Amino acid sequence: MQYLGKNRLIAETYIEGLLVGKTTILSKSLSLIESSLQADRVVSLKVLEGILANTGKSIRVGITGGPGVGKSTFIEAFGLYLVGCGHKVAVLTVDPSSQRTKGSILGDKTRMEQLSKSSNAFIRSSAARNSLGGVARHTRESILLCEAAGYDVVLIETVGVGQSETEVRDMVDFFLLLMISGAGDELQGIKKGIIEMADALAITKADGDNIKQAAHARIVYENALHFLTPANSLWQPPVVTCSAKEDLGIDVIWKSIGSYSSLMLENGYFEEQRREQRLIWLQECIKQSIDQHLKHQHSNSSTIDQIQLKVREGKLFPPQAATEMLSEIIPKDR
Ligand code: GDP
Repeated sequence: MQYLGKNRLIAETYIEGLLVGKTTILSKSLSLIESSLQADRVVSLKVLEGILANTGKSIRVGITGGPGVGKSTFIEAFGLYLVGCGHKVAVLTVDPSSQRTKGSILGDKTRMEQLSKSSNAFIRSSAARNSLGGVARHTRESILLCEAAGYDVVLIETVGVGQSETEVRDMVDFFLLLMISGAGDELQGIKKGIIEMADALAITKADGDNIKQAAHARIVYENALHFLTPANSLWQPPVVTCSAKEDLGIDVIWKSIGSYSSLMLENGYFEEQRREQRLIWLQECIKQSIDQHLKHQHSNSSTIDQIQLKVREGKLFPPQAATEMLSEIIPKDR
C-alpha cells in the first residue's frame, strides 16, 4: 500500500493529465486509488467522478490460467500484436496471493519486457493485497483510469488459482482461459466452474514437439464444452491453439474477441453485462463498507467483542449475532 502524503496532487491535476493520456499521471492516479488513507480516498473519488464520462470505451478482456501456463508470454505477444494493429493496450495484473511479492511492478516489467517498452502499452501490477474485495475494487477503478487515459484494450491478468477469476469475470467483457496440453488427462485439476466462465479457451505452447498434443487437447476441450453450461447461451466458446513464442494463433484469438463483441453489441448483451457488473460492484462496495464500519466499531466498542466471544463459545447463533452486530453500526434512530 502506498501512502502518498505530500506527493498527492489535487484532483483536477489527475483528471487533466489522464484525459490527455499522460502515463506518469496514470501511474500516480493508480497509486492514489490503491491508498487506504482517507484523504487519498476523498481525492480518488473526485478523480473517478471527473473522468467517468470518458470511460467505458475499451474492450475489457480477462485472461486467466494456472501458474506456468504461459500467461505473461501470451500477454506480451498479444499486446504487441494489438499495438501493431494500432491499439493502445493496458495490462493490469490481479494477484491476490503473495506469489509475486516485493517489487511486483518491476517484476511484471521484466515479465513483459518488449511490451513494456512500447509507448502504446501500459503495464501495472496491483501491489495492494488487502482483504475482502480490495483487489477487485482497485482493479475496477484502474480499468476506468486506463480508459480515461485513452487505452482502448484493457487486459486483466489473473492467476488461475482461487477466487480471483470470479472477481475478474465480473469486471470484463470477455474472459479468456489459457490451458496447457497434458498427457491425455487435460481435464484433471481444472475446475469445471472456471471453464464454464470462459468465453474462449486457448491451448498455449502449441509449437515444436507439442503441436500434436495441443491439437489433441483442443478436441478434448471442444468435446468437454458440449457437456458444460456456457457462460453465455448466445455464444459457443471457441477452443483454439496458440504459440506465443512463434506468434501463432494470436490473431485468431483477437478475431474471436471481435466476433464476440460485434454480436453482443448488436443483441444488447454487451451493455446488459456491464449494467449487471455495475450492480455487482455496488454490492461489493456495500459489503466492504459494512466490513470497514464493523472493524472501526470493533476497535471502539466491547459489544462486538462480546458477540464474537459468544459465537465462538456456541452461546449465540451466528445469524442472530449478525443481526445484533449490524444493529451496532446502523444508527439507532432509523
Ligand atoms: P505464467 O506463469 O502463466 O505467466 O507463464 P510464463 O509466461 O512465465 O511461461 C512459463 C514458461 O512457459 C516459460 O518458460 C515460457 O518460456 C514458456 N512458454 C510460454 N509461452 C510459450 C510458448 O508459446 N511456447 C513454448 N514452447 N513455451 C512457452
